This record gives sequence, C-alpha cells and structure tokens, in this order.
Amino acid sequence: MIEVLSARGLMAARLAGRFVGGTLDELRRRVRVGTNLLEIDEWARELIASAGAVSCYVDYAPPFGRGPFGKVICTSVNDAVLHGLPHDYTLQDGDLLSLDFAVSIDGCVADAATSFIVGDPVDPADQRMIDATRTALAAGIAAAGPKARVGDISEAIGTVLRAAGYRVNTDFGGHGVGSTMHQDPHIPNDGRAGRGLRLQPGLLLAIEPWVMRDTDRLVTDDDGWTLRSATGCRTAHSEHTVAITDRGVEILTPHS
Ligand code: MG
Repeated sequence: MIEVLSARGLMAARLAGRFVGGTLDELRRRVRVGTNLLEIDEWARELIASAGAVSCYVDYAPPFGRGPFGKVICTSVNDAVLHGLPHDYTLQDGDLLSLDFAVSIDGCVADAATSFIVGDPVDPADQRMIDATRTALAAGIAAAGPKARVGDISEAIGTVLRAAGYRVNTDFGGHGVGSTMHQDPHIPNDGRAGRGLRLQPGLLLAIEPWVMRDTDRLVTDDDGWTLRSATGCRTAHSEHTVAITDRGVEILTPHS
C-alpha cells in the first residue's frame, strides 16, 4: 500500500523527522569509549518519552526478526549492519557504530540512520565506507522528485556504491514511510533508472544505502535480529526520511 500525505500529515512528518535527526545527533554527542549499547537504548527511551513520541521498534515483530524487538533503537557495531539489537556491550576505541532510529509523532513516522567511529584510531577504510554511504544517500535523494521513479533512486545509489568498490545487497533497502514504518515501495540500493513506481507529491520515503567492506552476504546473529556481514568485515549505513513535494525533495531528518 502506498500512502500519500495530506498537508497536515506532512507537518507531523516534519516534527517526527526533526526529532529523529536531532536524537541521532544528541546520541552521537553522548557516545564515547566506555558507553554500553544498553545505555544508548536507555537514553533514546528518555528522549522519546520527553518528546511524547512513540517508538516504532519496541513492539516491532516482522517475519524476518525474532520479535518483538523490545528496544527503541538499533545499535549495530563493526560487522553488524542492520537491525542491531542493543545488548550488554561496552564500546571500545575504533569501534564503528551504526544507529538506526524511528519514531511516530502525531501519527506519522520518520526513520534515519548514521554510522560513525567511536574514539580512535579511525581506520581510513572505515571512514571511506561511511563516506560512500553518505555520498550514495545524497545521490539517491538528488535522483528523487515528483517526476522520478523508484528505479532512478536505486540506480543513483548503486552507481555510487559500486564505483567506490562495494558489492550491493538488494534484499534490504529503503521503503515508503507513513502511519507505519515499512510501506511500499521497496527501494533497492541498486537498480535501473526509469523503472518502478513513479513518485508523487506527498510520498514519504526512507532512503538508506548500506554496505559491507568485502561482501554482499548477510548472516543473522543468534539474537534472531542483528544482521552481520558473512565475512566478519565492517559495515556502514546512512539513512534519511524525505518527502516528495511539488517542487522536489525535502529532507525531514537532518543529522550530521
Ligand atoms: Mg531506519
């Protein structure tokens, strides 16, 4: 199902987006070497409560996870890339942390993710991979708009990631957003321009390139949720929720 937002729905989406982007920035400011992943979840819970927001994750129980998720944020470290279930782990120097966060405010969802390196040293290959997902995200957003098709976004993302030397897994990618977190259309991180659904004003999309350093194969952790690289290599993920408007594309989840 495709949901198209009213002007009022777009106002709610902007509120949700500002909160999600701001929370990612706030958590990034707080995280340091010695922070436990469970603390990050606790901080996110407090921020959700103080904003009157509703977590999209805590009761989430899709077919691909061992639901319900039970936590309010995904914390994926090093070889973990998607759906990282927060657990008792203390961050170490040089860890690569991805945070993925979604809430609903006034009935509308926003969803965003960011990757960064905790402490030091910063491995240049990690930074290069993070930068590639950010460049791919910008390219995907630039390819979206009221006349574009889903395939235009996919091809733009895939072109950047492949040119940077990464293989692209198209099983998990972007998605429509609205009153619930995961809606049609699916937005694979590679594809062909000119194909797929034509975008229209009022459509909300979560666009989310992610890569693994030397593979495109995933394995599921024993926790039933966390997806890791099959080779144990490091990974990165960047995501914004955007609104398709009459004039173009509006990024709803600004974060650094
Ligand atoms: Mg997300």
